[in-house]
Amino acid sequence: MPRFRTILDTVPPYRAGKAVVSADGRSYKLSSNESPYEPLPSVVEAISKAASRIHLYPDPGATGLTNALAERYGVPPEHVAVGAGSVTLVQQLFETVGEPGAEVIYAWRSFEAYPLMADLAGATSVQVPLVDEAHHLDAMAEAITPQTRMVFVCNPNNPTGTVVRAAELEAFLDRVPEDVLVVLDEAYREYVRDADVLDGLTVYRERPNVAVLRTFSKAYGLAGLRVGYLIADEPVAAAVRKTTVPFAINHLAQVAAVASLDAQDELLERVDSVVKERTRVREALIAQGWTVPVTEANFVWLRLDERTMEFAAACAVEGVAVRPFEGEGARISIGSPEANDTFLAAAAAFRNA
Ligand code: PMP
Repeated sequence: MPRFRTILDTVPPYRAGKAVVSADGRSYKLSSNESPYEPLPSVVEAISKAASRIHLYPDPGATGLTNALAERYGVPPEHVAVGAGSVTLVQQLFETVGEPGAEVIYAWRSFEAYPLMADLAGATSVQVPLVDEAHHLDAMAEAITPQTRMVFVCNPNNPTGTVVRAAELEAFLDRVPEDVLVVLDEAYREYVRDADVLDGLTVYRERPNVAVLRTFSKAYGLAGLRVGYLIADEPVAAAVRKTTVPFAINHLAQVAAVASLDAQDELLERVDSVVKERTRVREALIAQGWTVPVTEANFVWLRLDERTMEFAAACAVEGVAVRPFEGEGARISIGSPEANDTFLAAAAAFRNA
């Protein structure tokens, strides 16, 4: 048998959200934080046109998209790195800092790709437990050692939806040495309505060791095409670009992302509707008697401990796929009003059973 890296024996698997179907054929996928909306016609049209060019390699530097992002956010193009989904940029970030002995700190539970990518890069994960479902930034600052290369702050946090607010983030960043990279993973930034949460792009402008990670997968509805981006000072963005697999961001993805930036207003209106549904879902759950952390993302979190898998199974019977974390809780994406109503009915039935 070929010899593999021993880390592959213990690497945590990435479990993607699954779809389920009820006995009468209903299926609501609330397990992957996807947009409940189909793509905009203008974006589909751009992709269709671009399809006639797919016999050619894509632009290796994703120049059009990079420039469009730079212009949109008022940053130099040298500060932008584009990836095949922001999860690929997470992997690239680990590749830029990860080697035996290098430590990377992140809250736990948080985005489940962090431990996987840390292991694959040969870095050491330092997981700092959430407190009240939120980042404990003091404990994270205390966990920094001379071996620390990078800290992830997932804001809002996946899967709990909680946020880190301005004062605590600034106080934390003041404690982080300048040679430690802080990555603000803002995959759900567009859903944030709490005015006390800093926009990572404001923070990055003041701090050369802060990188901001965003995605077209959620608010922009391009999960199936895989595009994300990083904005950071030139040395960081350049290091990340060096780890890009050649031609990783395909032509259709590049074109669709540019078309989506052009349709930003229309897409952000959709985000507003999701945010309204989020409020409705959370309030309905609280009225049913659940404890639901305040969420600034496109999902809610229910701590269910040992009843988690039973809850997921009860939702599945109604055709609702949620994302369970065994022994901990379940994350439920905000979907269409119909999907949300079906989920709420399943949650009520579970409580009353
Ligand atoms: N960061 C966070 C916090 C996420 O929840 C996700 C998606 N689950 C990602 C990054 C990656 O998203 P994508 O690769 O689709 O851009």
